[in-house]
Amino acid sequence: MYASRMDSLPPYLFARIDEMKAEQQKKGVDIIDLGVGDPDLPTPPHIVAALCKAAQDPENHHYPSYAGMPAYKSAVAGWYKKRFGVTLDAGKEVLALMGSKDGIAHIAEAFVNPGDYVLAPSPGYPVYRTGTLFAEGRVHEMPLLRENNFVPMLADIPKKVAKEAKILYINYPNNPTAAVAPPGFYKEVVDFANEHDIVVVSDNAYSEIAYDGYRAPSFLETKGAMEVGIEMHSLSKTYNMTGWRIGMAVGNAEILAGLGRVKTNVDSGVFNAVQHAAITALSGPQDCVAEACKIYQERRDVLVKGLRSLGFDLPTPKATFYVWLPVKDCMAFSAQLLNDAGIVATPGVGFGASGEGYVRFAITRPVARIQEAIGRMRRMKL
Ligand SMILES: *Cc1c(COP(=O)(O)O)cnc(C)c1O
Repeated sequence: MYASRMDSLPPYLFARIDEMKAEQQKKGVDIIDLGVGDPDLPTPPHIVAALCKAAQDPENHHYPSYAGMPAYKSAVAGWYKKRFGVTLDAGKEVLALMGSKDGIAHIAEAFVNPGDYVLAPSPGYPVYRTGTLFAEGRVHEMPLLRENNFVPMLADIPKKVAKEAKILYINYPNNPTAAVAPPGFYKEVVDFANEHDIVVVSDNAYSEIAYDGYRAPSFLETKGAMEVGIEMHSLSKTYNMTGWRIGMAVGNAEILAGLGRVKTNVDSGVFNAVQHAAITALSGPQDCVAEACKIYQERRDVLVKGLRSLGFDLPTPKATFYVWLPVKDCMAFSAQLLNDAGIVATPGVGFGASGEGYVRFAITRPVARIQEAIGRMRRMKL
């Protein structure tokens, strides 16, 4: 009944985890879910208020413009200028997205012919792969290994693959490893893209979730980046707006026009009232972002310290709301966590073959629950 490309879609592992979780819940187990990368904190009230007000204005009830309202695109450009020092032409170098997943899922259709390669990190956000498969491209996985600080070794990509590659995905601060981009890496990416004529897609969804004074850069700050690539960004993680579905693609105008042409044919833009709320988020006070980071930082400290007290060896993440824990067998470990302690963590292989040997914890639960999880793990004698 289904097309053959459906066979290569991945959700089996995650569906299996949901099943196992439901089994435990049926038994009455109090589950601590550290699996999902979805903030437990609410959207800040001034942003919700802006939505309510805009939703009541009939002007906003029509089809939105495809690329985004000019005022939203200006707010994005203003935020990029203020936050990263990157100058964008709001008319041509900003495109509204229904969350960055929208852009990631569709961009391959604009640039990838059947059989072309897409270079994607492994472990990595699963949509890099599925977007490629929909365009009938081939994924070349770039392993992110601890000994390389979870940065792909571009020099290890076979020449033939590089020659036939159309898109290179990079994602720092990184999901799932929580790594940040080391200085000089983006310059290397620009050189590689120029050498092989590849479109760079930087996924910067976590730039604002950072700790200990770390400030994540934009790829577009790098000299030459605007000529070779774009950046996908989103309000989801920054302002706890995952359910609102709004994000942006910014950067090279020609690349954005390709993505825009695909999108014009599959969706009709973001609800104007949501764009108004997003303008409020991007242009208004940013204390809410700092407050959220403070909360995550405390949780991170409790989890990392707790795991170390259990004998685990792991770095302290500088950014994202994830902790990437080295374990022996990720499937066995996460099954044991769930069945013996009622804790959900995501097995690393869910993010690609090179995720084996790790599980991902999302610190999207209160400190008390994280402490409870550590207590349960201590009793398990891992
Ligand atoms: C959450 C996430 C996204 C997408 O989020 P949207 O809600 O679609 O904006 C993109 N990339 C990574 C790595 C993510 O973790």
